[in-house]
Amino acid sequence: ESPLASVPMAPKDPMFGLSAAFRADTDPKKVDLGVGAYRDDNAKPWVLSVVKKADEILRQTPDLNHEYLPIAGLNEYLAASQQLVFGKDSQILHNHRVATMQTISGTGALHLGARFLSKFFPESDAKRVHVSSPPYVNHLPILHDACLETAFYPYYTPTTKSLDCDALLATLHAIPEHSIVLLHACAHNPTGVDPTQSQWRQIASVMRERQHLPFFDSAYQGFASGDLDADAWAIRHFVSLDFPALLVAQSYAKNFGLYGERTGCLHVVAQDADLAARIKSQMEKLQRVNISTPPAYGARIASTVLSSPALFSEWQEDLRTMSGRIVEMRRALRALLEKGKGEEGKWKHLTEQTGMFCYTGLDPEQVRVLREKWHVYLTGDGRVSVSGLNWGNVRYVAEAFGAVEG
Ligand code: PMP
Repeated sequence: ESPLASVPMAPKDPMFGLSAAFRADTDPKKVDLGVGAYRDDNAKPWVLSVVKKADEILRQTPDLNHEYLPIAGLNEYLAASQQLVFGKDSQILHNHRVATMQTISGTGALHLGARFLSKFFPESDAKRVHVSSPPYVNHLPILHDACLETAFYPYYTPTTKSLDCDALLATLHAIPEHSIVLLHACAHNPTGVDPTQSQWRQIASVMRERQHLPFFDSAYQGFASGDLDADAWAIRHFVSLDFPALLVAQSYAKNFGLYGERTGCLHVVAQDADLAARIKSQMEKLQRVNISTPPAYGARIASTVLSSPALFSEWQEDLRTMSGRIVEMRRALRALLEKGKGEEGKWKHLTEQTGMFCYTGLDPEQVRVLREKWHVYLTGDGRVSVSGLNWGNVRYVAEAFGAVEG
């Protein structure tokens, strides 16, 4: 008998299972509102025009080869990524207080950060990562894989379909000092609900007082509002309060449309340059056993754009195209759902929430009917990927939502 004979079947990944069910559906009216990637108005993947240009530039670079990158990644990419997150004139960059590693997109950054904390965060009751309720679908699995414990902080409240800030602040007060708190920098997934700047100030101030360690997941910078600085505001505000340690997991999947290239960074902000150098040396050790060195292509594309003022402003245009279309679809769906029903504001969460996703409040039974009767696919928690909407299907989706809402 095989020594592996007792391996049990793992459950299917819910997200990838939903896409498979959508592909298998032969109804021409079918709509994919599950997809976690941007789609254009024809429901097709969109290659950013600036990425096409960078691609062309790379193709024409005569001495480009296929050698390994350094363990930490492409140098110019690391520097440009730091500036993008923390701001060009950031004091912590000037003082060399940030240890940065190129990672396998945002997932790899979260994982490296989790492995790093698992190894070096001091043993104590507080060696537990606090995540939002509800969490991003992969947060708990990634943290548990790195042998970290988890607990939830209150975040979304279904009654108002918005942030329960009082409960969140109370929990941040109540948990042990020096806790690790995982925060979504912007465009919270799955709820689409972000704190306002004044709420962020309160969150940051409690966390500073309680000496918690902020671990930001930044998967949507520039994609949420179309403005790279606005979407980094929360991170930069925390940095301005001079937390002794702070982590950022950065992904270029959404904002560059580089999903398959696996392009990201982990940044660890330390108290001084000496500690940052030691942290970086340890992260290089973890990187070496995990992936040895990161993949080159996406990092070359990103740094080509980030280092050219002309390409950078084209990128900003592309970001406004994507975020603008999403905002337009939020407005269109809301208007269609509320039209003529005398229910002004019933769907206001559609336009108040931000980023790729909207938490509709539809329950699992309604989601099932949407899928089986209407061929409209969304996750069981009622999360809609807004970029799955377009001018060709938004009326049909409004009709379907209206019908299941009764
Ligand atoms: N964090 C959040 C909140 C996300 O939504 C995603 C993408 N779905 C990621 C991290 C990681 O994505 P990737 O590894 O493709 O960068």
